[in-house]
Amino acid sequence: MTDRSLDEIIAENLAAVRARIARAAADSGRDPGDIRLIAVSKTFGLDAVRAAIAAGQRDFGENKVQEGLTKIDALAASPEVADSLRWHLIGHLQSNKAKRAARPFDAIHSIDSLDLLAKVDAAAHDVRRKPELLIQVDLAGEATKFGAAGDAVREILRAGEQLTAARIVGLMVLPPFYDDPASARPYFRQLRALRDALLADGVPAAMLRELSMGMSHDFEVAIAEGATMVRVGTAIFGLRAKPDPKP
Ligand SMILES: *Cc1c(COP(=O)(O)O)cnc(C)c1O
Repeated sequence: MTDRSLDEIIAENLAAVRARIARAAADSGRDPGDIRLIAVSKTFGLDAVRAAIAAGQRDFGENKVQEGLTKIDALAASPEVADSLRWHLIGHLQSNKAKRAARPFDAIHSIDSLDLLAKVDAAAHDVRRKPELLIQVDLAGEATKFGAAGDAVREILRAGEQLTAARIVGLMVLPPFYDDPASARPYFRQLRALRDALLADGVPAAMLRELSMGMSHDFEVAIAEGATMVRVGTAIFGLRAKPDPKP
């Protein structure tokens, strides 16, 4: 046999990514166990997700509600596996889809308004789920992205103290794409500085536990700046067939 199977390729890619995470953690004196790898399976099929599961991966990220739902439902046929998985919605979420997102996703990284926060919490309450929420932050100079800026982040955190079902657990950033990973560093650093400022202002630490930042080509930089969740697609599953359509 000359061609490697999908299972082998994904297992090797995952091992390589885990090794990169371990090295990056060691370089900055961090425990690699404090960094959660989210395998971003968007645009890839169930065969790819199953291969990653077989290689021990448990956290998966999707950027569209419906696409995630399709995979989650298909995998639910084998509950002994499905129950151990954690699904992260990492893409923009419209308020009118909050209801659909609340049941399947364990974590939603794209909370960017009070309205969305309230709708996700109400929907989670209805379906008896307790999703973890991250506030997607729009850092200065990043006006083309989704996300909450400055005061809006504080407002969302304040409202987050009164939730009935969901819980805010941290912050997320999606910097503009740069070829040079080092160019993303200021965004990662700013997100951590914002977290530290909010902690100093008395925001409960449990609401600021996670920093979701870093993708395939720059997660080492993000880890050096304090990432606790890295969202990695290409380095695990390969190149996506199409670029993401602009929302
Ligand atoms: C697609 C995507 C990723 C993963 O990107 P890769 O470069 O393939 O690792 C991470 N975060 C978000 C929000 C994404 O949409």
